[in-house]
Amino acid sequence: MAEPSIEDLPGVGPTTAEKLMEAGFTDIMAIAVCSPSVLSSTADIGESAATKIINAAKDMADVGGFITGMDILEKRKEITKLTTMSKALNSLLGGGVETQAISEFFGEFGSGKTQIVHQLAVTAQLPKEEGGLEADVIFIDTENTFRPERIVQMSAAIDLDPEEVLSKIHVARAFNSHHQMLLTEKAFDVAKEYNIRLLIVDSLTAHFRAEFLGRGALAERQQKLNKHMHDLQRFTDLNNAAVCVTNQVMSKPDVFFGDPTKPIGGHIVGHTCTFRVYLRKSKGGKRICRLIDSPNMPEGEAVIMISEDGVRG
Ligand code: ADP
Ligand code: MG
Repeated sequence: MAEPSIEDLPGVGPTTAEKLMEAGFTDIMAIAVCSPSVLSSTADIGESAATKIINAAKDMADVGGFITGMDILEKRKEITKLTTMSKALNSLLGGGVETQAISEFFGEFGSGKTQIVHQLAVTAQLPKEEGGLEADVIFIDTENTFRPERIVQMSAAIDLDPEEVLSKIHVARAFNSHHQMLLTEKAFDVAKEYNIRLLIVDSLTAHFRAEFLGRGALAERQQKLNKHMHDLQRFTDLNNAAVCVTNQVMSKPDVFFGDPTKPIGGHIVGHTCTFRVYLRKSKGGKRICRLIDSPNMPEGEAVIMISEDGVRG
């Protein structure tokens, strides 16, 4: 399932690969559509070597084909909206968290990101008439914050059998960013065995942020995140699934994006997520959710409550 990387191209060794990645040529497709003169000056190689690399990239790139607008309409008819258990948040999202899309919840520590994805892991199992997906869930846990006890509480609150719910949540702990990416590739196999309609990554960026420090590591971090986001996007397409990821905000100025309220991952994460929701704490256990950069929904805010029963409001 793994897509080839630019180092798999004949004629691209580690040094050339590094130069290309630094310059933003992070995947095969970027090279396939590049001109020999640009590639030659970027990577300090001759034009004929550049031409050979580009031709190999064209052969390896999955260019895809054309489908009609009708095909796209048919596929989009299968989109399902998964309830968050909050009317306000559901309507902010146009009905709930969508399948065939990646939704991102970002905010500071304690803003409720993990609570929301636990809630979604439970509601995914509700009947479709009640806003569920009637399906199993994959939960990639990078911060060791998955709590079955919380699933039990949230299930009982909506009259679902907690043990049945737990048995349909497939949890894997990711120990580092590489492991996180491998688990995402493995999720494709799990989805062949089980009817998976929701994949959660909590947190999407924590490992990447901890492992790739400083400006020198930024190109590599973004290249890896780019591949990870592509895999997640492919998962939504292939399984008509919702992917929900959590992300932190930068608490101190980042070397690259100085704004302290910006989510981690820059444009690569931003452009791949269809829905981005910024969470912040408010008075009395309330959380304010703000929808950002949606392609077809107005920006706006919703207030939710997090209680023992889960997300409400
Ligand atoms: P993060 O954004 O860091 O993932 P969390 O989703 O872990 O944040 O949110 C933690 C907050 O959720 C706690 O501070 C608390 O306000 C709330 N919370 C967690 N568990 C419960 C519970 N059982 N009952 C009520 N509130 C809870
Ligand atoms: Mg968390």
